[in-house]
Parts: sequence; C-alpha cells; structure tokens
Amino acid sequence: MVKIGVLALQGDVGEHVRALEKTGARTLAVRRAEELHAVDGLVIPGGESTTISKLLVVFDLYTPLKSRIEQGMPVWGTCAGMIMLATSILDGRPDQKSFAAIDMVVRRNAFGRQIDSYEENLHVEGLDDPFRAVFIRAPWVESVGKNVEVLARAGDDHDGPIVAVRSGMALATSFHPEIGTDHRMHELFVSLVRRS
Ligand code: GLN
Repeated sequence: MVKIGVLALQGDVGEHVRALEKTGARTLAVRRAEELHAVDGLVIPGGESTTISKLLVVFDLYTPLKSRIEQGMPVWGTCAGMIMLATSILDGRPDQKSFAAIDMVVRRNAFGRQIDSYEENLHVEGLDDPFRAVFIRAPWVESVGKNVEVLARAGDDHDGPIVAVRSGMALATSFHPEIGTDHRMHELFVSLVRRS
C-alpha cells in the first residue's frame, strides 16, 4: 500500500490526511527530511504560501523536498500548495520561494481580489461528474508551458481561468478538495502515486 505524506508545516493538514485515508492510502505528516524520505508522494496543503515558504527554510526542508520533486516523486499542491509548485509567482512576496515543479505562472489571491471565497461545479479532466470546488483566497494559473496539461477551468462555460493542471508526476489545484466528502481528487492523486 502506498504511503502519502502531507507537508505539515502550516495549513489544512488534518483534512488532507483524513481524505487520503478514506481512499485507503497510508499517510504521514511530514515535518522533517527523514519523514520526507519515507513517503511515496506528497501533498502540499492550502494555507499561506509565504508562511509555508519561510517554514520550509526554517525546518531545512526546502532543498531535500526540491530534490525529491526533481527525482520524480509525485506531488500535489492545493491552493497555497499550487503556488509552491509554480515556476513563477505574480503578486507574491519578493522573497517567497517555490519549487518550479510545473511550468506555470500562478497569480496569488487571484480570485480573492474580488471575493474571499466561493464554490462552483468544475469539470475536471479524468472525473466523470462535476466536482464541487471550494475556492478560498485562491490563486489561478495565468499561463502554462507546453508540457502542462490543463485539467480544469473555472467559469460557467468552463472557459475561465485555469484552476487544475498536471505535468508529469506533479498535480496542482486552486481549490480545496479536502473540504467535504467527495474524495475523487484524492483518489486521482493516489492512483498517480500507485502508477509511479
Ligand atoms: N492566499 C493564500 C496564499 O497566497 C492561499 C490561500 C489558501 O491556500 N487557501 O498562499
């Protein structure tokens, strides 16, 4: 059985752990490099990307995590976690770090400039039925490189900003799939980890 880590420096760690366990995966809250080496894949949760960035440095996790991602460990960033996977961040702090795991430009608090949080039914590539997505001061993907697959766009006609992407073993979503009882996004990630 695969073991999936949830980066546990800040943010909605417990919700991800519970959702992953519902899919049948084993989980581990990751705060140290040893724990990072014990997992087959990692979720970077929502929270505050500037804080997560700072704590990764304080906990000596930034470099080991960057190299595991470069070696191909499956990784999934949600909301603040999406920002952490970007190659470039708009409206970020100048000292904020990210992993460049997905060739994409992400705008922080992109939806939050109009409204703090909202929900909508998304068509996500790979899921048969719409997914009720919760956005909380969410980023969106402003542009992607050619090897990045767009999995979902916001908007009634599903032609709005990009809110879910995949590139190789890296997945990123603007919304919070750990909220609620629909665990299909977690199943999608777990199956990616199983195949890796
Ligand atoms: N606005 C937050 C950030 O910039 C992300 C919000 C979230 O993860 N819910 O990191």
